[in-house]
Order: sequence, then C-alpha cells, then structure tokens
Amino acid sequence: MSEEEKWKCRCCGCELSKRQVVFDYLSLTFSEKVLRCPKCGRVLIPKDLAVGKMVEVEAQLEDK
Ligand SMILES: [Zn+2]
Repeated sequence: MSEEEKWKCRCCGCELSKRQVVFDYLSLTFSEKVLRCPKCGRVLIPKDLAVGKMVEVEAQLEDK
C-alpha cells in the first residue's frame, strides 16, 4: 500500500490529510503520523501500524 494513496473519510467524504497524532496506550504515550479527517477529526489507523505499535509497547513493558 502506498503512503501517498488518497483516503477519504467514511463519515463525511473529506480527503484525509497526514497529521502527527498522539496516542495513549497502557499508560504510555507515543505519536505517529496518521491520516486524519480535517473536518470531523476521525483518524484512520492502518492495521499494520496499530498492530506494530501494540507489539512494540508490550515488548517495552515486558522488559521492565
Ligand atoms: Zn470526516
């Protein structure tokens, strides 16, 4: 999947734009560039990214 591929918001049909978004997960915070609807604020997180980040965060927790 190309990073430049155009995505449209399912909600309002606006073209999504890439934005740096901060996530909170298991009391950890990290930021990632994701596609976000400029109109309604919906964020599209690619499955690969979501799964990759969860694994990464869990690995960090197990280390401690
Ligand atoms: Zn929208």
